[in-house]
Amino acid sequence: MFGGIEAGGTKFVLAIGAAADNIEAQATIATRAPEETLAEAADWFSASGVQLAAIGIASFGPVQLDRSAPDWGHITSTTKPGWSGCDIAGYFAKRFAVPVRFDTDVNGAALAEYNFGAGHDADSLAYVTVGTGIGGGIVYGGQVVHGAGHPELGHLYPKRPAQDDGFLGNCTFHGDCLEGLASGPAIMRRWGRALSDLPPAHPAHALVAEYLAQTCHSLFAATAVERIVLGGGVMETPGLLDRIAFRTRALGRNYLPGREKQSVVAPALNPVSGLVGAMILAEEALAG
Ligand code: ZN
Repeated sequence: MFGGIEAGGTKFVLAIGAAADNIEAQATIATRAPEETLAEAADWFSASGVQLAAIGIASFGPVQLDRSAPDWGHITSTTKPGWSGCDIAGYFAKRFAVPVRFDTDVNGAALAEYNFGAGHDADSLAYVTVGTGIGGGIVYGGQVVHGAGHPELGHLYPKRPAQDDGFLGNCTFHGDCLEGLASGPAIMRRWGRALSDLPPAHPAHALVAEYLAQTCHSLFAATAVERIVLGGGVMETPGLLDRIAFRTRALGRNYLPGREKQSVVAPALNPVSGLVGAMILAEEALAG
């Protein structure tokens, strides 16, 4: 049996199952101080009486993913009180003495959509979540792209179109990067309301779609992935996905090779993609 943990800033979702697509028990606990939260999570696994073979963790970040680093499996420096330097992976490895695989929550979601969701019939996929922040992961042939850390798709710089009013953006690091322009808080700061609360004719809809379409075009051009899955709270705005998909095709100018295989779609596994991803990580941990 495998254990999966989707470690989020507001809640931890836990699962036990014989396989990633066969979750048999599930629980949700509130994220509090690390000691309490990790202990409550571990106690839930222990109380099940199940002998776990491996554990997968898909975590909020920022995290250290370099296995050769002394702080592998830790949250690095976060504004969330108490969590900076927290050794999440080490805690569960020590307590259960089983292999542990650790990755970001968005990489977990990307793996889940690739294996069982909107990308199950594609050979490559990028998953982008547009919500409180913007993050994403890229999967090729079943493997998540890590490189020197992991991709930070939310911090690409879109080109500002001529009709843009020059809003400075609200990313602490980059100002008007994608997250600084198209995340939920950026939209709220700029227009005073969530995108879904602005009337359909409001220019915000076209502008946010433009930034996200540019990102999709850049992803297709840079990575040649077959599928881009767009999730997160902002993407629940009616009509937004269609606008982005249409505009992405227009930006490509019928140029990119393989474009007939490429598409921009909604996630299929909401709201369990992160948890299913954690279970896939557990399977990978056992496989070594
Ligand atoms: Zn940024």
